[in-house]
Amino acid sequence: MLAEQPVRQSYEHVAFVGAGTMGLPMVRNLKKAGVPLRVFDVVPDVLKAAAVEGIQTATTLKDVLSERCVLITMLPNTPHVRAVVLGTDGAVERLPRGSLVIDMSTILPAAECEMGDALAARGIDFVDAPVSGGVVGAVNGTLSIMAGGTDAAFERAKPILACMGRSILHTGPLGMGQVFKMCNQLMVASHIQAMCEAFALCRAHGGDLERLRDALRGGAANSWMLENLGPQVIAKQTSAGFRIDLQLKDLKLANDAAFEKGVPLPGLALATTLYLEARAHGEGSNGNQALFRTIDRMTNQA
Ligand code: NAD
Repeated sequence: MLAEQPVRQSYEHVAFVGAGTMGLPMVRNLKKAGVPLRVFDVVPDVLKAAAVEGIQTATTLKDVLSERCVLITMLPNTPHVRAVVLGTDGAVERLPRGSLVIDMSTILPAAECEMGDALAARGIDFVDAPVSGGVVGAVNGTLSIMAGGTDAAFERAKPILACMGRSILHTGPLGMGQVFKMCNQLMVASHIQAMCEAFALCRAHGGDLERLRDALRGGAANSWMLENLGPQVIAKQTSAGFRIDLQLKDLKLANDAAFEKGVPLPGLALATTLYLEARAHGEGSNGNQALFRTIDRMTNQA
């Protein structure tokens, strides 16, 4: 559900950095909710696509951070966010006291805490708010948003997040958004794996996959994966919403976090191995659902 009232608080605009697969539809929903925006991305074509829709864009990071604003980052990985927050012309250098930074990318929790310290020293609030729900959720404004930070920072961020998501949960202190997101990704990977294995078993026995999907959707085996990515697997479509490379980035974050605390996670280890197999076969830029090709190779169906 999108916010019905324009969201205007103690800031001039939302500076949105990273208008890629997820970022651009999220920007569209902010615009729909009446939020004043400035968008920056390092790829000029991305900015052109936004400008065509009447979204205000800037060609440098400096230009989007020119005054008191809410900075939202939706970037691939930790180094990209670190560059925008801590780097030259970044948030720590340019944003005035009282600003708010919301990182919605999926990155290392420890990096969120490190950036949070640097921002707090400048009087800037920070929330880590990674998302789940895929491109469908970004387009429909129905993302599940897991936000870590102080109570005060979360309350400032919430009305803006509500323009992009349906479930906006305060998960705990800074970095806890990313911990919840890792748990999400662990389950996502296992659910895709389970779906692809079930399809392989059914197919090997001559079963019809459409009918299998219909049957499973009505029972205890239903999942977001079966609903949203099942049709793509059946049609053998590998186009990317969420890339295998990004999933591997997330699985590495989860594996590192498990190792750090000594938590044995055999399912995560298996899913990671299968995703590594997919990447080794050149599937890195394909969508997450391309894991079915790994199962196909293992069952000699490729
Ligand atoms: P993407 O690669 O499509 O988009 C990232 C954008 O960031 C690109 O347009 C890129 O040009 C831009 N960018 C990179 N470095 C930059 C910099 N220094 N300054 C400005 N712009 C820069 O990735 P995505 O699929 O939109 O994912 C973004 C984040 O959201 C990732 O952390 C991903 O793990 C997470 N995520 C993705 C999905 C999904 O379904 N795609 C779902 C949930 C979470």
